[in-house]
Amino acid sequence: MSARILDGKAVAAQIRSELASRAAAFTRRAGRQPGLSIVLVGDKPDSQIYVNSKLKSAGDEGMKATLSPLPASASLDEILSLVHRLNADVTTDGILVQAPLPDSLGTAAMQAVFDAIDPSKDVDGVTPANVGRLVQNRADLIACTPAGIVELLQRSNIDVAGKHAVVIGRSDIVGKPVSMLLLHRHATVTVCHSRTQDLPKIAATGDILVAALGRPGFVRQPFVRPGATVIDVGINLVTDANVAREIFHEGHPRRGLFERKGSVLVGDVHPEVAEVAGALTPVPGGVGPLTIAMLMANTITAAELRAGY
Ligand code: NAP
Repeated sequence: MSARILDGKAVAAQIRSELASRAAAFTRRAGRQPGLSIVLVGDKPDSQIYVNSKLKSAGDEGMKATLSPLPASASLDEILSLVHRLNADVTTDGILVQAPLPDSLGTAAMQAVFDAIDPSKDVDGVTPANVGRLVQNRADLIACTPAGIVELLQRSNIDVAGKHAVVIGRSDIVGKPVSMLLLHRHATVTVCHSRTQDLPKIAATGDILVAALGRPGFVRQPFVRPGATVIDVGINLVTDANVAREIFHEGHPRRGLFERKGSVLVGDVHPEVAEVAGALTPVPGGVGPLTIAMLMANTITAAELRAGY
């Protein structure tokens, strides 16, 4: 058996075309485009790549996206005063502060910055107010990757109600919110983490298995119930030839890519899982494109709600 591949790119394209008409309708009515402001502190190359694709996507869908860059040497106070200025700017509907912040700011800085964002502009779903509303099942702005996962399941006609969903990972940005969303859709949810005992046995009881742990190729066949839907959230850049060769067999197209480029993107799920899963998201091209599409959806939702439409 070979798993049905859940094409995140195609689903994201469908969502984005719907958003383009919503953005056009907002622009006609409000006399301005929905506005997204992205704050980037420092010059981490992968953060710059993520930010550029968000800026491009916003432009493609008819939104006005602006980048507010700060140097890596910026203080927490400087970042907070930029966030306060964006909170007060009437043409900014959504604020996204790209994570992570430079290490020099310390571990508490990211949360302090998230806490400062006006919840009505919190298009990343990271403020305590929006996380609380998510728990109460009345959130308008939900963290983009978890929102994208449930959108992908729904648009792929995969039933969640009554199913057992196992989530590996309990981060604030993926594991916890996706668990909550699945629970609200009436799944029975088990959340696993690094202290979970007998992880493969628990994972293999899932009708739906969400892997969000950040370990390349970690989820192997014994973790997967035959026929289960497997959502691979992981995005891991592998540069170690031994790891790449262990994950991709000789002749696999992604192994060829590694041999040519010296690096390859790998999910948290090993490719051998495709032989037992019923459905599987690829990496790249699975959950990733949905994350950006849901950021755009949140920006338009924030614009509409702030305008009272
Ligand atoms: P994170 O904050 O590092 O959290 C990882 C979670 O996995 C933690 O809860 C950790 O447990 C758990 N974990 C780590 N090793 C484990 C193990 N051996 N067994 C069981 N659980 C283990 O990561 P994250 O931000 O949630 O991201 C997870 C992955 O998703 C990363 O690869 C990231 O790049 C990717 N990601 C992708 C997108 C996208 O758009 N597709 C968006 C966000 C993140 P403890 O809590 O016990 O430490």
